[in-house]
Amino acid sequence: MIDSSIFHHQTEERLLRYAAITTQSRNQTEDCWPTTDCQRDLAKLLYDELHALGVRAAYDEARCLVYGWLPAVGVEEDRPIALIAHLDTAPDVKGSEVRPWVLRAYPGGDILLNEAEQIVMRAKDYPNLEQYIGQDLVLTDGTTLLGGDDKAAIAALMTLAQYYLDHPEAPHRSICLAFTPDEEVGGLARDLDLEQLGAKYAYTIDGDHLGWYQDQTFNAAAAVVTITGRSVHPATAKGIMVNAADLAGEFLALLPRLEKPQYTDGTEGFYYVTSVQAVCERAEIRLIVRDFDAMRFEIRQEMLQVYARMLNERCGEERVTVELTQQYRNMGEVLKDCPFLVEDLQRAIRAAGLEPKSEPFRGGTDGSALSFRGLPCPNLSAGYENAHGRFEFVPVPSMAKNVEILLHLTES
Ligand SMILES: [Zn+2]
Repeated sequence: MIDSSIFHHQTEERLLRYAAITTQSRNQTEDCWPTTDCQRDLAKLLYDELHALGVRAAYDEARCLVYGWLPAVGVEEDRPIALIAHLDTAPDVKGSEVRPWVLRAYPGGDILLNEAEQIVMRAKDYPNLEQYIGQDLVLTDGTTLLGGDDKAAIAALMTLAQYYLDHPEAPHRSICLAFTPDEEVGGLARDLDLEQLGAKYAYTIDGDHLGWYQDQTFNAAAAVVTITGRSVHPATAKGIMVNAADLAGEFLALLPRLEKPQYTDGTEGFYYVTSVQAVCERAEIRLIVRDFDAMRFEIRQEMLQVYARMLNERCGEERVTVELTQQYRNMGEVLKDCPFLVEDLQRAIRAAGLEPKSEPFRGGTDGSALSFRGLPCPNLSAGYENAHGRFEFVPVPSMAKNVEILLHLTES
């Protein structure tokens, strides 16, 4: 039985160091990976650190990937497992000049993050704070995100590696570590070399709230609806003009009114219109399609084609086209064939004294893509809170507890 408090100091020290390194990724329309050079700064540092710890490691600088391998110790039947965390932070808010600090033994109530700018995290706005009373919290200065997403996971994984190197007698299965870029901008761990990684199964360590895991994600596709109009001077337009902007409005009106992100939750799917650009001559609607259920997901996409055909028939010619791009799939379809992955995870969380909790994740993870590339990969929470914002924070005991969970997950 391990007391996870022995990991407080190491995880905290690591998170403070990693969070101060800018690794923000970038939304892009071109196909250029990694999306930012700065992610390599942390990648190189982690490679050096693994090396210094005595872990066999590799750094693929071009693709910004770090690998580390801990060979099995004292197990009869080895089951190599990969543990994956992402290097980048979200582009949503400022992610450079991050100045993390630690509030010791949070006494409850509001937290003054920034004296000079009078930035306060109000307890009434963030009720999740209450459960961390008495704990040490890693916080921002209120002007940037923290990047505990996903550096709290990196800190836990590096501490796990150090534990096994400090305790060469401790039995464990083969562990393959991977640190990957661009998770926040749909990178989907596309360049991760599964052969080089060398595991048949994996877990991503990401997500908020300690003790949670995910084994269901959305199916996801993106659609571009292109509408061609016919522009003429409005004075002489009768019977000639075809206004693409009007057709765009009609197309939008055909989408089911309540199947939108703001009206759905749980396992309900949706259409989300992300942009509309329209003039008389041409219009373009961009939207994303999401559903947990594979059949409903197919129908949703087919309905977009049906709407286009309806408008084309009325126009008497083809003016509306829909182009669909598949993004990722529900990992649950793959994970149902290897139930032991989730059972192992639940057992490890319980062994650390927590009750495992899960709900379908209304998004995708790198593991969604990896699962369909042949590496089944559920997700374990990293234990951060309020990610992607200036009020992000990480309770130090959550990181330490995650090290304990990972020890139980890898011990046999
Ligand atoms: Zn993340």
